[in-house]
Amino acid sequence: MQYRTLGRTGLSVGAIGLGTEYLLEVPRAQAIGVVRRAVEEGVNYLDLFYAQPAFRDTMAEALDGLRDRVVLTAHLGAGERAGQYERIREPGRCATYIEDNLRRYRTDHVDVLFLHNCDEADDCDAIFAPGGLADLAEGFRREGRARFIGFSTHTVATAQRAIATDRVDVLMFPVNLTGHATPGRRELFEACLDRGIGLVGMKPYAGGKLLQAQPELSLSRVATGGPSLAVAPQPVTPVQCLAYALAQPGVTTVVPGCSDLSQLEDALAWLTAGDAERDFSAALAGFGRFRSGECVYCNHCLPCPAGIDIGAVMRLLDRARVAVTADLRDEHAALPANASDCRQCGACTPRCPFGVDPAEAMEEAARLLASP
Ligand code: SF4
Ligand code: SF4
Repeated sequence: MQYRTLGRTGLSVGAIGLGTEYLLEVPRAQAIGVVRRAVEEGVNYLDLFYAQPAFRDTMAEALDGLRDRVVLTAHLGAGERAGQYERIREPGRCATYIEDNLRRYRTDHVDVLFLHNCDEADDCDAIFAPGGLADLAEGFRREGRARFIGFSTHTVATAQRAIATDRVDVLMFPVNLTGHATPGRRELFEACLDRGIGLVGMKPYAGGKLLQAQPELSLSRVATGGPSLAVAPQPVTPVQCLAYALAQPGVTTVVPGCSDLSQLEDALAWLTAGDAERDFSAALAGFGRFRSGECVYCNHCLPCPAGIDIGAVMRLLDRARVAVTADLRDEHAALPANASDCRQCGACTPRCPFGVDPAEAMEEAARLLASP
C-alpha cells in the first residue's frame, strides 16, 4: 500500500481506501471477507456511514481485532427509517446513532466524525450555528470519542462554506472524471491544500457508470431529448478512475465501493499498475464540459415512504433506456417495491445532489418497466 498523510490530521492513510455502501446488501460472509482482505492488503481508511444495525454488526465483526489497524469513520447525520438510509439533523437523534456506532464497533472513539451529506447553504449554516451538529461533533471530540471532524458534501459552494469555518479537518467530496469540469472544483481542492484539510475522494467510478461502455445509451437519450450521459464512449478501467482521482490536487485517499473480492482486486491493481495502465488522458477528453442530471445510484434521495430502493430502480431504468427486455421487467417486478409504487410525493427530488428528479424518473421507469 502507498500511505499518505491526511492533511492536518496527521493520520497516515492508504491511497486506496474502501467505501462500504455496496456491502449493505451482500451476504454477511461476503461483506466480512471483503473488509478483512482489504485490511490484510494494507487498506486502512474505511468509510462507514450506514446506520442500519445489521450492517453495523456485520462491519463490527469484520473489524474484530483490527480496530487499531484502521482509521474508523462515522457520520453524524446518517440515520435509518424502516431499514432505509435517512439523512437526519435532530442533534439528539444524531448523537444516539453515534453512541450506537461506538457500542456496536466496540470502540471508545472514531477517528474522523463526518458532518454528513450537507449540500445546501441553509443546511450548512444550521450545522455550524450554535447548538448545531458541528457543536455536537466538537463535544464528541472534547470527550475523546472522536479525534477529528470531517464534512461530506457533493457541492463546491457548500464545501467552500464549510471549510471557511475552519472547523473541519477532512473533506469528503466526489472525485471522478464526470466532475472534471465542475466549476470551482479545482479552486476548492487547492483551498483544501492551503488549509491543510485532508481530502477524501468518494464515488471514483461515478456509481459504476464509468466502468460501462454506453455509447448507445448516450445516443438514445440525446435522440429522445434527454441529457447526454457523462460517460466516455469506451469504458474506463478501475485503475484509470483511481489514477485520475488520486492525481487531483489535495486528494489523499479514494474510497471505491467494492461488493466482492474481485472488485477489491480491481481497485488494488492501481498499486502495481504501470504508467500506461494508469493513463486516463484519453478518457478525460470526453469530460471537458460540465453536465448534471445523471444518477450515480447513491440513494441519498432516500428514505422513500413507498419503500422504493430508488438507486436500484434507476439502475434498471438506465438499462431500459437502451433497450427494454423481459429480464429487466422481471428484475423490476422482483423488487420489494418498484417504480409503480411511487406516490409522486416528491420527497426524494430535493435530496438528490446530482440534479436528478427521481420522482419524474419513477414515472418513466413505471412506463418502461411495469409489466404490460
Ligand atoms: S436520484 Fe440522485 S440521490 Fe437518488 S440515487 Fe440517483 S443520484 Fe443518488
Ligand atoms: S416521489 Fe416516489 S420515489 Fe420519490 S420519495 Fe415519493 S414515493 Fe418515493
